Amino acid sequence: MSVFINVILPLPLANHFTYYVPENLAENLQVGMRVAVPFGKTKVYTGIIAKIHQEAPQLYEAKPIEQILDEKPLVTPNQLKFWNWIAKYYMCTEGEVLKAALPSAFLLESETVIELNKKTEIDEQKLSDEELLIYEALQNQSLLKIQEVMQILEKKSVLPVINKLVEKNAVIVNQELNKQYKPKLIRYVKLASAYKEEKKLNTLLDELNRAPKQRTVILTLFSLQAKIKKPIDVKLLKKESQASASTIKTLIDKNILEEYYIKQDRVSFEGGSEAGKIIFNEFQQQAFSEIKTAFSTENVCLLHGVTSSGKTEIYIKLIEEVIQQGKQVLYLLPEIALTTQLITRLQNYFGDEVLVFHSKYSINERVEVYQHVLEQTKGKIVIGARSSIFLPFQKLGLIVVDEAHESTFKQYDPAPRYHARDAAVVLAAQFSGKILLGSATPSLESFFNAKHHKYAYVELSRRFGNVLPPKIELVDLKEKYKKKKMTGHFSDRLLKAIEETLAEGKQVILFQNRRGFSPILECLTCGHSPQCPNCDVSLTYHKHNNSLRCHYCGYHIAMQLQCMACGSSEISTKGFGTEQIETELKALFPEKNIGRMDLDTTRGKYGYEKIINKFEQQAIDILVGTQMLTKGLDFRNVDLVGVLNADSLLNFPDFRAHERSFQLLQQVAGRAGRTKEQGTVLIQTYNPHHQILQQVSSNAYEKMFEEQLDDRYNFKYPPIYRLIKLTLKGKDYNLVNESSAWLAKALRQAFKENVLGPEFPPVARIRNEYYKNIMVKIPAKQSLGKTKEFIEKSLKTFNSIAQFRKIRVIANVDPY
Ligand code: ADP
Ligand code: ZN
Ligand code: ZN
Repeated sequence: MSVFINVILPLPLANHFTYYVPENLAENLQVGMRVAVPFGKTKVYTGIIAKIHQEAPQLYEAKPIEQILDEKPLVTPNQLKFWNWIAKYYMCTEGEVLKAALPSAFLLESETVIELNKKTEIDEQKLSDEELLIYEALQNQSLLKIQEVMQILEKKSVLPVINKLVEKNAVIVNQELNKQYKPKLIRYVKLASAYKEEKKLNTLLDELNRAPKQRTVILTLFSLQAKIKKPIDVKLLKKESQASASTIKTLIDKNILEEYYIKQDRVSFEGGSEAGKIIFNEFQQQAFSEIKTAFSTENVCLLHGVTSSGKTEIYIKLIEEVIQQGKQVLYLLPEIALTTQLITRLQNYFGDEVLVFHSKYSINERVEVYQHVLEQTKGKIVIGARSSIFLPFQKLGLIVVDEAHESTFKQYDPAPRYHARDAAVVLAAQFSGKILLGSATPSLESFFNAKHHKYAYVELSRRFGNVLPPKIELVDLKEKYKKKKMTGHFSDRLLKAIEETLAEGKQVILFQNRRGFSPILECLTCGHSPQCPNCDVSLTYHKHNNSLRCHYCGYHIAMQLQCMACGSSEISTKGFGTEQIETELKALFPEKNIGRMDLDTTRGKYGYEKIINKFEQQAIDILVGTQMLTKGLDFRNVDLVGVLNADSLLNFPDFRAHERSFQLLQQVAGRAGRTKEQGTVLIQTYNPHHQILQQVSSNAYEKMFEEQLDDRYNFKYPPIYRLIKLTLKGKDYNLVNESSAWLAKALRQAFKENVLGPEFPPVARIRNEYYKNIMVKIPAKQSLGKTKEFIEKSLKTFNSIAQFRKIRVIANVDPY
């Protein structure tokens, strides 16, 4: 009986592909193993076995696999189930999930390589000029990659030429699979076994009297072995004996020392010194036992704890209990909050149990973490950013989602466009594990779910150590400008506060929001920005046709030359960035150290850490930064936080702009006064009466929630309605228009007024492709599954229309 396998390939293919397994390979075949399979004319891909069966495919003849790449499955049945859920829910293919889920080193690179066919004689007369060029190149160089062929021929389409050469038996094409992953090896030395005998050893040492440096190395090796009782690596030996590399090499060459290698994990720590040392205050104790009670009957719990209330300690205690049961824990954080600060805190407590999975780590480091999780060889706790939900957990007992409100848990591009917080809820359920969502400012969705008893809810409303919440004061920019109390972007109030804080030896954080792509018109006199009458968003300025537009519903008006509120003609579409603030500060406080933290200054693996460390060690007095500043950092000496302009946040063209402004401002404010004294927060704004700013300054989360939820009801947005965004893109402007109109019309047949658009996004052309969006709003009563089915059916019809073939449609479920 023949054996067939269904394979998931790392490609956007709707279906699994079936391959035939030759008899000699069919032994020990298991679901979850990697196989190398041919695909298309010349390619070899690494895929994952999803199913083993005996049915030949009906539509095509199954090709044989090339190779089985694993001895044991690399992907667990749970992962396959999870991938399937992600693909279905987020409307993408399992192949796309596979690509996101496995460290790329596991997906062996396939590179077409050609070499001379040495078995046949070629009549060079019969080769074309181009063919001859390649043929000659191969006389000097045994292998050529496609890339190199392109260079030789100075053109891209080289496959026809290669095909001709293959037909003429001049060259052979093979696929070279290179295993990328190489474990890092550490070099060790030991005394050659010949010198185990004492007599021989004594003779050796006598002999080495004439080579004192070498003698020192041997004696140092002995004393190290006595001290450490572990293998001695060359690096340590060199350092302790102060020997040169050549001295050690000589000893190895003379067969006195023997060298050997041991694989080392790149990411390894020591620690665990803090274990068991947390003593809760009464509020933490209360919250902790409430969470445990909740978990006895429910799977998801929202921990709503104000900034600096000691949520991390609660996570730690929960984690401790779970790993004591032998289960694994995932500690999920937004990428940017994944700082050494927090990692160190966990390591101090759990030592080697902590594994870190971070996109800034190298491929090899990620491979090692993957294998540790799969084999449960080391480390029961994984701390990682969103992609760590794809690790091969075996016994996942608990997921902690820290800063659970963060929008960066959502992956926008490429597919799978998943939200790690939501996917984590499903992941935990697969393992019958628990999941804790922690935040000082929960997302509307999570709080809504808690209110409707879908999630358990636990509150922690006191800061640790009875520190008072920071005093938040709004500074009216309109008035300050009128009274000429501004120096650059600083009000007299903010400047004075900075001076006072610095005089007391305390530090200052200044927050300046980074601007989005789309400029918003802002009145310099009153701060007004034109709003869409149909949606709760600001209009964006479109330079190319000089208009102001809503990119949710398509509403648009001509660009205004005067402010629509106060009539002033001083209106601006420009913002100001962190760099400008830094420059102004340097002029105002020439003798102080000013630091800046934004995308530009934090590139590189440790860029972000370096600035944080400097600030922690108080080598920076004033730190200016963007969003990055807000993420769960715990600085001891910050007394003042200033927000230079809150309006650009509030006016962001997004139905979540107000929710996000509240979260962001509360988070920034939370960086102030985390120890003894009460911190101060100054928020500069043109709209001190804006309801969100009022709610921020009075810590009125619930009020914010109620008001925003009203808006979401009225304008049909999450969490009341669900959204699916369809983006059409193509190079032909008219075709994009035509096809998106067709698709919107098709969708309206089923969803009526709940289809918005098609509408150009603010940036309608990227890399010479035009984009157009269609938004489908889904009421709570409407089945999400059926909705997707209808959309998929419509997309099938769409794709069957020949002229639309050049248009790509991207579906994004829960796009915001
Ligand atoms: P959150 O994560 O809620 O913002 P943290 O967990 O960072 O707050 O706690 C704020 C500060 O209080 C930290 O410096 C932390 O070390 C300290 N802290 C919290 N709980 C305790 C505790 N039980 N014992 C000692 N220090 C604590
Ligand atoms: Zn105005
Ligand atoms: Zn609108």
